[in-house]
Amino acid sequence: MTHNDCIFCQILAGNAPAAWVVDDGPIVAFMDIFPLQPGHVLVIPREHHQYVTELDSYTRGLLMETAARIATAMRVIHPAGTDLNWVINDGKAAWQHVPHVHLHLLPRSGRDNLSLINRMATRFMRKPDMTAFEADAARIRAVLEHS
Ligand code: 5GP
Ligand code: ZN
Repeated sequence: MTHNDCIFCQILAGNAPAAWVVDDGPIVAFMDIFPLQPGHVLVIPREHHQYVTELDSYTRGLLMETAARIATAMRVIHPAGTDLNWVINDGKAAWQHVPHVHLHLLPRSGRDNLSLINRMATRFMRKPDMTAFEADAARIRAVLEHS
């Protein structure tokens, strides 16, 4: 069910823009609009649920499988290797800001100096221009299309 006050449901309904990485099937993915690192991807089930435990087991498994395909594509784009934080914030006290299950694929390098704990909790700024992310999404899509 689409939730009017859920930004991810609004994106899925076509009422808000997104730089899509995967836009078909029960699991979709798009670029994070407030990236913690360049190339930050969100993988989400189409169905609105707040908690991972509310997903049926098929959807929960497919979330992981889809994320794995995307992670592999991200590594093709960065041949030197992309280390990733796979993060699910599951509930408000666990830094979940959007109450619709999502898995963050967050590229990391040994030199990025990212303090994940500090930034996860307090990272929201003015929304950037969506076109900034379309090129990143297109590069991952191109690899997925040939995998
Ligand atoms: P959470 O804090 O709930 O784990 O993560 C929610 C994520 O959604 C954040 O990383 C945030 O940047 C991202 N986000 C919030 N609003 C939008 C939006 O309108 N579009 C996109 N693409 N990402 C969003
Ligand atoms: Zn939703």
